[in-house]
Order: sequence, then structure tokens, then C-alpha cells
Amino acid sequence: MHVREVMISPMALDRLQPLLLPGRSDELTATAKRGRELLEGKVVWNINSTASGGGVAEMLQTLLAYGRGVGVDTRWLVIEGDPDFFVLTKRLHNMLHGATGDAGPLGTPERAHYVSVLAGQRDDLLGRIRPEDVVLLHDPQTAGLVDLVQEAGAHAVWRCHIGSNAVTPSSEAAWAFLRPFVEKAGALVFTRPEYAPEWVPQDRLHVIAPSIDPLAVKNRDLDDRVVDRLVALAGLSTDGESEVPVTFLGRDGSSRVVRRHNDLIDGEPPPAGAPLVVQVSRWDRLKDMAGVMTAFVDHVATEHQDAHLLLVGPAVAGVSDDPEGADVLAECTDRWRRLPSKVRRRVHLVQVPMDDLDENALIVNALQRRAAIVVQKSIAEGFGLTVTEAMWKARPVVASSVGGIPDQITPDVEGILVDPLDLSACGAALRTLLGDPDLAADMGAAARTRVRSEFLGDRHLRQYVDLFETLLL
Ligand code: UDP
Repeated sequence: MHVREVMISPMALDRLQPLLLPGRSDELTATAKRGRELLEGKVVWNINSTASGGGVAEMLQTLLAYGRGVGVDTRWLVIEGDPDFFVLTKRLHNMLHGATGDAGPLGTPERAHYVSVLAGQRDDLLGRIRPEDVVLLHDPQTAGLVDLVQEAGAHAVWRCHIGSNAVTPSSEAAWAFLRPFVEKAGALVFTRPEYAPEWVPQDRLHVIAPSIDPLAVKNRDLDDRVVDRLVALAGLSTDGESEVPVTFLGRDGSSRVVRRHNDLIDGEPPPAGAPLVVQVSRWDRLKDMAGVMTAFVDHVATEHQDAHLLLVGPAVAGVSDDPEGADVLAECTDRWRRLPSKVRRRVHLVQVPMDDLDENALIVNALQRRAAIVVQKSIAEGFGLTVTEAMWKARPVVASSVGGIPDQITPDVEGILVDPLDLSACGAALRTLLGDPDLAADMGAAARTRVRSEFLGDRHLRQYVDLFETLLL
């Protein structure tokens, strides 16, 4: 097993500053100065288990780039695991969300395997981490590295991006497994205060919500013509006219051309101009892609005969730390095949290739922008970056009132919140917005303002520097 370093090109903060709220730009300059002085001569390591797929990888890409841009030596390491390791960590992931997951055990053999996979990467890590460095360990996959980091004389921070508001037998069992590993970390970071188990000492508990980068390929502004071209190039529109090459700047600054795809969906694409209802998610049961399909088929399709549903996820071979992906996609495909043909042609399961992450991000960006409504009908959700991404694009969102989603959306102001299990309420919310474009536009505009105020990198970087001060001053 090997540790792999993900290379990150620096990004200057001054590109971000014009997009911030008035007054925030100076504050960000001050944050950068504080961070640079505090971290001089140290490395800030981030360690997780995948360089692509999912919200953590998405955020690391940009936060680290800004860190490097202001002169902090910020680096990203990805640990390896074997299939049993990822089955176990996915179990922990589901259980921390309060779900039972695969209902497998978390006993001595599992602990031994977990420890041995991480121990296999010990020398590699100890060869890199220096005393006084700061090491941010992300999620259950890396929880078992706290000891090693402290042994190296560095500061260990464990950041948990998942959680559940309620204590359940599943979440308690997962915490019982993780507690001995993470309890001694110098800081423990959660997305919401409710996610922290009661044994986390208040003086080491930090609450930091995620953020998005408006300049990332995933979020940067695209004009409507380019959106249409991208959707056509992805093979997701019948508008052949729009199939004009699109070039864009990748995150490494190089100029790139988007490939023409014709195998992202089974069957015919939606007609150009059809109102699209879009959910973008990993193929994870807790995202409930199947529930969105049922809500659309049973409660929307008849009243809005022109609307199409796109359930968009990564090509399943591409996300190495998510062993459930292929099964969940297969279940959705099976359900889709059994739909009556008249409605089946209005539902599309889209697998976006993961071999080129910039292209993947650009396609997701275009689909979110092309959406009449973005849905995130998760059963559980740590935060829900897809919600933030859609809000930044001024899309009206219909989402479950779970996890971090209500922290982003005030009901009926920036979107519509629904009970995650109430398919009829989800359908009603979709019908309301499809039938009232003015309301949809107002919610979209309010959503963008909310993200500008709370969910961009300036707030996130400030909170990180505050946290580092508690460790280093
Ligand atoms: N994502 C993507 N391509 C896909 C599916 C998801 O780039 O095919 C991204 C999505 O845009 C978002 C992240 O993966 O940035 C998912 O983050 P979120 O917080 O919504 O959920 P998580 O996957 O972390 O549970």
C-alpha cells in the first residue's frame, strides 16, 4: 500500500476577491497574512482516501490551491485501502449518518484489518510529516492516523464531514469504533455542532461548514450558449446544431477541448429546451436517486408532460473508495427498465466519465445550469455541496430537510425543503416550481446571495486560520 501525493497548482486569492461581498476582500487579505505568518516553515498536510469523487475531494482541490496561492505549504496525500477496508469505512460512513448500511460488524477483526491497512502506510507517512506540521485527517478512513501524526511531533486535526443530528444505535456503534482513534486529536472538526458526539471536549471542538469555489471548473460562470453546447457534446440533448467544440481552461491552467460523448445514457436524450429536473450525486443509497425517480414518475410526469428527469452520477468505475456505487446504479437501472416506455424516455440515468476530472466538473456545471430545478432528495446528508453548487448558479432547489441542507436553505426563500421520505411532497414542490418560473427565478436569486454571504472560501479559510491559532499559538 502506498501513499500518493496529489499535486495542486497555486491559485491567487485576488481572483476570488471581486466575487466576495463588499468588505470581505480586505478581510480575506488579512486572513491570508495571518495564515502565512502562523504557518511559516510548516507544512499543512491534508490526508484522505480519494483524489476524486465526492465533496471532500472537491473541496480539497480548491482550498489547497488557495493555501498554496498565499504562500502556505499546503499538500494533499491520498492513502490506499483494499476492498475490505473500504467496505468497512463505508459501513462507518453509513452508520455515522444514522443508517444501518450493510449491517456488518465493527468488531475486533474489523479493527485489526483497519489498523493493519493504515500501518502499511506508516513509514511512507513518517518519512514526510515533520515536527510542528499540521495534519488534517479527513473522515473515518484516516481516523486511525491520529497517533502516528502525534508520534511524528505534528498537530493532528480530525475532520469529520459526516454526521447525524440524532443519536441512533448505528451512530453509537460507529462512534464506539472511532472514538479511541480520534479522541486525542488536537482538534476535532464537524460540519454542524449536532454532529459532534458528547465526549468531544468543548475546547477542541470546531464547527466548520464546507464551501465552494466560484472559480472552480465546477462553478465558474458559463454563458447559455456554452451550456447548450456542453450538454449537446455530452450527448444529453437532441440539439445537433449545438455540437460545436468547447475549449476551456483546466485547473492546471492548460487549454482543453471537451470530448464528444455518446454513451453517458441509455436511450434517446431529452429534446433541446425541455425543462430538466436534475439531481447530481454519487450512486449512494442515502442520496435516494431511486426515490427521486419515483417522485418524478408518480407526481410530476403527468402534469408536466415536457419535463425530463436527469439523475447524474459518476461513472461507477471511477470512485475507488465507494464500493456501493455499482450496486446502487444497477438497482436504479433495473427500476428504470421497468418503467412504462412512455415515462421511461423522460428519465435518464447519466454516468459522467471520471477519467478527466476537469471535463467531469464542466459537464456537471453545465447540467446544473441547464436545470430548471435541482433536486437533492437525500435520506441523510452531511452538508450537501451539490445544493451549494446549484444555489450559486441561481437554481431553485428542492431538497430534503436533513443534515446540513437546512443550514443552506431557508424554507420557501432560497428553495423548498421536503421530508426526505415524502415523495408526494417532493413531487408537489417540483410541480410548484415548474409551474411558476417567476417564483423559481426569485428563489434562485436569493440562493446565490446566500452562498455569497456564507459558503465561499473566505469564511472557510478564516475558520481554518482561527483553528490553527488554537493549535500553534
Ligand atoms: N459530483 C461530481 N460528479 C458526479 C457526482 C457528484 O462532480 O458525477 C460532485 C458534486 O458536484 C459535489 C460532490 O461530488 O461537488 C458531492 O458532494 P456532496 O457534499 O453533495 O456529497 P458527498 O458525495 O460528499 O456525500
